[in-house]
Formats: sequence, C-alpha cells, structure tokens
Amino acid sequence: MASEYVFTPPATVSLPVVGQSARFPVHRIYCVGRNYEEHAKEMGFTGREPPFFFMKPADAVVVVDAGSTGTMAYPTLTKNLHHEIELVAAIGTGGKNIKAADAMKHVFGFAVGLDMTRRDLQGDMKKQGRPWDIGKSFEQSAPTGPIVPAAEAGDIQNAEISLQVNGQDRQRSNVAKLIWNMAETIEHLSAAWELQPGDLIFTGTPEGVNAVVSGDTLVGQVAGLPTLTVKIA
Ligand code: MN
Repeated sequence: MASEYVFTPPATVSLPVVGQSARFPVHRIYCVGRNYEEHAKEMGFTGREPPFFFMKPADAVVVVDAGSTGTMAYPTLTKNLHHEIELVAAIGTGGKNIKAADAMKHVFGFAVGLDMTRRDLQGDMKKQGRPWDIGKSFEQSAPTGPIVPAAEAGDIQNAEISLQVNGQDRQRSNVAKLIWNMAETIEHLSAAWELQPGDLIFTGTPEGVNAVVSGDTLVGQVAGLPTLTVKIA
C-alpha cells in the first residue's frame, strides 16, 4: 500500500542531462566559500585559508534549459542582490572520506550555476557572527543549467569562466585558478558529510561580484558547458 502523507510531498528537483532523456535528481547543494584568490581579496581576505562550506536547499535551484532564459524573482529584504558565477560539480557516486586522487570518479558531470547572494544580509550576519543562510539559502538562489556528463565536458579544470550582465563583462577568470580544486574540495567535503548521488557542489566564484537589479539579464559561461541565461524579474 502506498504511503499516505498529510499533504502532497514536494516534487523532486531535477536538472536535464545533455544527450540523455533521464534527468539528474538533486539531493543537496554544497557551496565553497572564497575559493578564488582575487575574489577572497575583494571580500577583504588574504585568499589562503582552509576551504569552508555552506549549503542551499535543493529547491533553491532554478532549472534553466539549454537555449532558454530562466527567470529569477528579485528576492525580498535585500537592496544588494549579487551574482556569483560558478562551476558546479554534480556527484554521481556518493561516499565519505574520499581521497582527492579518487574524487573525480565520483563526479557525474558539470553545469554552470549562479550562487545568488543577498550581500547586504550576508554582511550583517558576518558582522554579528551569525549563520549566512538568510544571505545565501533563499528561494531561487541557485539558477543552474543542464549537466554535461564528465567525459563530454572537455578540459573543465582549465576552462574559462565568465559572467556578463546586459552584455557587459562582470566576471572573467579560469577554473584553473580555484584555490581548492574540485578533487581537493571533494576530499574536504566528504570528510565532513557523506556525499550522496545527486549532490551539487558550487565550487566558488571568481572576482567581479556585483549587484543586479530587476530587468537585468545575466549570461554565465564555463567553456565546454551550455550557456546559462537568467533574467531578474
Ligand atoms: Mn559562491
């Protein structure tokens, strides 16, 4: 007999997979903080520190299909909504205490994502030593494009990463400049949490983070992956 619930459970959040009809069901979203040196500096830090992590709920994902423009509502409470373009690693095989040398075998594929941030609220929380959730983990805070299987993603570790807003360059760097690369990130993450298939890892953003307003169109790219286009409503 089917289980009964007191209300209808939410649908599983899932992302399209390039070249396959089956979708990638999202479990958790882990994000790496300050993982490009020039971004750490623009946030007031030296750029060298052990990796640290925060999370977003799976339903923060705004699914944006290849070739289409996603829509993100301008969130409540903030007057300083920032873009952070990021390479996203999608975990296909879980595990704990994964060593860096084995880590890439756990990656199903890659996508382009935006870690949208209520920077003013995050800043208030930082000052008070409080959790970042209100700045980072709100609805629609993680627009994400389709996942490209790892074998088809090219030289992703050396891919250019960029973001344009209304056609103007805001962020441009290279995945090679990650302070903690994907394998090292997975080693650290899996020491603290048991990774599960369906986990997404937002690997960090390069320098150039800045505000967007309603009506702006964001175009994010990581070479080898479908372009992510999002309009702020
Ligand atoms: Mn970020």
